[in-house]
Amino acid sequence: MDKKENCGLFGIFGDADAAEKAFFALHSLQHRGQESAGIATSNGQLISCHTGMGQVGRVFRGGRDILSMLKNPIAIGHVRYSTAGGRSISNAQPLLCEYSRGQVAVAHNGNLINASLLRDEYEAYGHIFKSTSDTEVIIHLLAKPSHISKPDPLGHVLNHLQGAYSLLFLFPDRIEAARDPYGVRPLCIGKTKDGVFCVASETCAFDTVEAEYIRDVEPGEIVTLSKDGLSSRRFVKTENITPAHCIFEHVYFAKQSSYIFGENVHEFRKRLGAQIAKEHPVEADVVIPVPDSGTSAAVGYSHASGIPFDMGFIRSHYVGRTFISPEQNTRDLAVKLKLAVVKPVVKGKRVVIVDDSIVRGTTTRGKIHAIRQAGAKEIHMRVSCPPVRCPCFYGVDFPTKEELLANGRDMQQIKKFLEVDSIGYISLEGMLSCASLPKDHYCTACWTGNYPIPVQMMMNKFTMERYQMQLFDDEPVQL
Ligand code: SF4
Repeated sequence: MDKKENCGLFGIFGDADAAEKAFFALHSLQHRGQESAGIATSNGQLISCHTGMGQVGRVFRGGRDILSMLKNPIAIGHVRYSTAGGRSISNAQPLLCEYSRGQVAVAHNGNLINASLLRDEYEAYGHIFKSTSDTEVIIHLLAKPSHISKPDPLGHVLNHLQGAYSLLFLFPDRIEAARDPYGVRPLCIGKTKDGVFCVASETCAFDTVEAEYIRDVEPGEIVTLSKDGLSSRRFVKTENITPAHCIFEHVYFAKQSSYIFGENVHEFRKRLGAQIAKEHPVEADVVIPVPDSGTSAAVGYSHASGIPFDMGFIRSHYVGRTFISPEQNTRDLAVKLKLAVVKPVVKGKRVVIVDDSIVRGTTTRGKIHAIRQAGAKEIHMRVSCPPVRCPCFYGVDFPTKEELLANGRDMQQIKKFLEVDSIGYISLEGMLSCASLPKDHYCTACWTGNYPIPVQMMMNKFTMERYQMQLFDDEPVQL
């Protein structure tokens, strides 16, 4: 996989089966992270927590036994994707700690770009950290005596953070859900028919617990779920809110059934497909998607162009990546194991392949090779986002800039590399025209290099994970 999901969050207050509901909700958010999972619950006074490496089913393979140990009415859960160096049980979340005010468990989606700096400061004063993740620094900020004495300690602490964060805090008596002032990562509020409030990264989690979506946690807002119901406060002034929602969530990360940033992901992707058909028409016999994330855009392309849609690839959901040895021709083999070509769909045909994005390009080339081997007459590649040219510092693990296919290559070179008859990416304007919010409400930095939250280009994807520092060659960017 060229690009890795970030993390998924779920929280629920006041349900006898809160742990079980969190378990099922995390299953529905599994696409956002498969490397570790965990649930923390509270009985109102004491927090219990279970975390482990792997997917939700594996972490809770003890099933009812583990869930019954966590049987409490308040729960938060987390699925995590980590960078390679940060793949450790100590980084699994929720992160449970105890400070002078009692216990707190934290679950985080996003990346703090000033975590390393803050951590250095704390370590200089003798603080001990038990993980290498950026999230732990938040607990040290919470525990600082001068912060505890503030009228709203949590709001005060959040003002020290820079970067992307959707956060859930489980205190023994309540859940606090917060979203950074840019609203980079999604976070939404739901309510069950019994009047129980919950929060989740995506609305697909609400479907599993039979909750209705109410609204998003707003950028710069803290929402409290407690015995008094739901309450809200701001930790930044409204005039300082500048939305920069990650549009890649719509293009790739989020589940098609979810609503994020106020609209349905499948419908959004269909509009992307229709827009590419307008920008890059071609005479062809069949439109096929790269499943699953290219499927909705391929439907849109087919509807708009009138070219029949079909399934040229069938995806295997049972193949892990881990058993393929590095010595093997890994990428080609991974493609063959993961995607089987349906030969009659492509043989002798002019084929349009629609994918959500191209990052390194090596797996895409493998897919195109497989279609060519199956006898396709022509192959026309269509991509439902613009060429990815810059890294993400806000919670998405792209390869380094040097590894990105579109970095320093023009369309002719990309076409040649992929060995296709034509290539067409949606334009930035075209992509933004498919969104319902104004175009300046989205982050588009991985395409444009315009970072809404100032960063130093000398950071890279490992900067947030201590001891894994690898510097870019780039000059620092003045922002
Ligand atoms: S840089 Fe790209 S992936 Fe990262 S938050 Fe912005 S739009 Fe999303």
